[in-house]
Amino acid sequence: MADQNEAFDVVVVGSGAAGAMAALRAADQGLSVLIVEKERKFGGTSSVSGGVMWVPNHKLGDDAGDSREAALEYLHATIKVPVNEIRLEAYVDQAPQMLSFLTGTGVPVETGVWPDYFPHEPGARADRSLTVPTFDGRKLGDDRYPLMREQYNRFKLFGKYSMDLGETFTLMTQEKGWRRTVINIFRRYWRDRDTRRVSHRDRRFTQGAALMGEIYEKVFARGVELRTETMLEELLVDSGGRVIGLEVSNYGRRYDIEARHGVVLAAGGFEWNQELRDRFFPVPGLTRHSSSPEDANRGEALIAGEKIGASTEHTAQAWYIPTMQLPMAGTSNFNEIHQAAFDVGRPHSVCVNRKGHRFVDEATGYDSFGQAMIADHLATGANCPCWLVFDADFRAKFSAGGLLPALLMPDKKVPGEWWDHYVFRADTLAALAEKIHVPADALAQTVSNMNDYAKSGVDPEYGRGSNAYDQMFGDPACKPNPCLGAIAKGPFYAVPINAGDLGTKGGLRCDERARVLDGERNPIASLYAAGNCAGSPFGDCYPGAGATIGPALTFGYVAANDILERAANRRDAAAETAE
Ligand SMILES: Cc1cc2nc3c(=O)[nH]c(=O)nc-3n(C[C@H](O)[C@H](O)[C@H](O)COP(=O)(O)OP(=O)(O)OC[C@H]3O[C@@H](n4cnc5c(N)ncnc54)[C@H](O)[C@@H]3O)c2cc1C
Repeated sequence: MADQNEAFDVVVVGSGAAGAMAALRAADQGLSVLIVEKERKFGGTSSVSGGVMWVPNHKLGDDAGDSREAALEYLHATIKVPVNEIRLEAYVDQAPQMLSFLTGTGVPVETGVWPDYFPHEPGARADRSLTVPTFDGRKLGDDRYPLMREQYNRFKLFGKYSMDLGETFTLMTQEKGWRRTVINIFRRYWRDRDTRRVSHRDRRFTQGAALMGEIYEKVFARGVELRTETMLEELLVDSGGRVIGLEVSNYGRRYDIEARHGVVLAAGGFEWNQELRDRFFPVPGLTRHSSSPEDANRGEALIAGEKIGASTEHTAQAWYIPTMQLPMAGTSNFNEIHQAAFDVGRPHSVCVNRKGHRFVDEATGYDSFGQAMIADHLATGANCPCWLVFDADFRAKFSAGGLLPALLMPDKKVPGEWWDHYVFRADTLAALAEKIHVPADALAQTVSNMNDYAKSGVDPEYGRGSNAYDQMFGDPACKPNPCLGAIAKGPFYAVPINAGDLGTKGGLRCDERARVLDGERNPIASLYAAGNCAGSPFGDCYPGAGATIGPALTFGYVAANDILERAANRRDAAAETAE
């Protein structure tokens, strides 16, 4: 093997949160580490993301009252499919330890108020979602910072000026002071004009880029080698079934790399592999509906694992988020795709399937919304896509994906090709129903019900606006329920919504030590998986904001710890033999 005689203690595949954490922990404890990343830019979906981490019982700030028991009570109440209990408990136990290691390396972490996604369930709290403050990208070095993946478009003003979470929400909800926020963002960017000479990239890293910038600063300081444009092809196994390295490719050149103590698969999910989607998912969906970076995560690690006997779990699941797709064929899905999560629960709107019926509390968590779309499609055959229907009051104030509020983007400024593809408009509801091929009487009945609920403030069907999570993205000015407003003022609009995702949730079946398991549920020696490459510890559930990055970091950390323990055992055994 290893025609280049290359050997590292640990080889990590994928440079997102799971991979970066595995590398950081292993290198911090003295092991030599290589990260291989197939894309030109590093950081994965994790850099693009909101960077929120769901860490129960974290003991930061004022978390009095949270406990292992409360976290498990909440998870047991919200997870609806069988999961590996020991692995679930390992998450609850190890996540705070991972966090303590992370902050110990100097990564600043902030607490905030963000209700768990099922706030009515026992054990729910509003303080488990953590963030990292703004990071100065130049700390990575002028040669490296432009090479970290950029944030999701909607986390940047006009796709250019990075916003932190607070600014993003202020603009999304247009709460008091939003104009000042815009001015401050411009001012800050202008003051930073020196950096523009190095790269167009805003060096103000926020959200996922801040998290990953902080981690990579520490990763590089510990001497980890990051090799981009280098893709995992095959896992190499010795005659005893132990993984001893991997074959990678770089623009067609294939070579082997030896991993003395372990390979950590952290190559994300398979959201960009249409074949795997068709094989695993209950309802057809397109790769282009995903909001993760185009073409990056195609499940090669899952395929390589299966080839050497690894088993999989929860592969029918994704981290769902409803998405809207602008008609911009030929451009990156980053320009095309808009997450609809926080638009669909705003007042003066309703979501209906193609029969004109509601199917969900529209203001619920985005994953629950996606799951409801799928369940409804399986039951009616008339969802995926469904419709967001709204009136002129909604249009004036709120976004519908790329369709900005009328104040910023009046109808006359909407690109011509959007009409009757992305957004449909008619003077009456009946005419709108005809345009979007939804039965007019059913739509009229649904809207009439919603208008009654707006008056009473109570949605007896789905409880829209009845809990803290729903209300977080409602309009406080809308009374008595911030998520319910009459859909009465024409013209009326509709935008189609797809069952999009942030990535897939199922993958290689792992145990509580992040070891990949074979078909007999035995660990495959020296092979680990973390992040979306591995089956989620939460099964079908998305318990709270940050519930994908929290486990990615945690099981990256757990994998490195297991490797460290085994490396130490081997050293001891070798020393004993030598004596
Ligand atoms: C807009 C947006 C916002 C989000 N916000 C949040 C949030 O706030 N909190 C949260 O918890 N989740 C969030 N998510 C989801 C979250 O970003 C992902 O679930 C998470 O980052 C996955 O981490 P990972 O390390 O498993 O994979 P990734 O970060 O996707 O990293 C995987 C890496 O592996 C590389 N790779 C793939 N195949 C190979 C191969 N064969 N060889 C070598 N390298 C390979 C990829 O190029 C990629 O760089 C968000 C997602 C999006 C799109």
